[in-house]
Amino acid sequence: MREITADASLVAFCGLYCGACGSYLKERCRGCAGNDKAAWCKIRSCCKEKDISSCAECKEFTDAMECAKFNNLMSKVFGVLFRSDRAACIRQIREIGRQGHAEKMAASGTQTIKR
Ligand code: SF4
Ligand code: SF4
Repeated sequence: MREITADASLVAFCGLYCGACGSYLKERCRGCAGNDKAAWCKIRSCCKEKDISSCAECKEFTDAMECAKFNNLMSKVFGVLFRSDRAACIRQIREIGRQGHAEKMAASGTQTIKR
């Protein structure tokens, strides 16, 4: 079992914090960046194509919620089920950087900012 630590490399492209995710902590996943099985994810592939670390660096959309790839049906369902506000995560990364976001999420022990 891994421990929760503050590590900017564990911030997912969509703003979630893999470092506090159960799958990562149970060593079932390497985190979004290293998880090539997540090729299905349009957010991940878009960020990789743009060569950016997350939607917080996107020049196309200053508000990720206006992007249909970010604000897709699956993310809407996920957001309701898990009370997850990934757009708030992206805003927080913009405000305090990836490491700052990782520190806040590690301190709260959650993979997302709650709605
Ligand atoms: S939704 Fe996509 S970008 Fe977010 S953690 Fe999952 S695979 Fe990564
Ligand atoms: S906001 Fe949309 S276009 Fe911009 S990087 Fe994220 S998924 Fe891609």
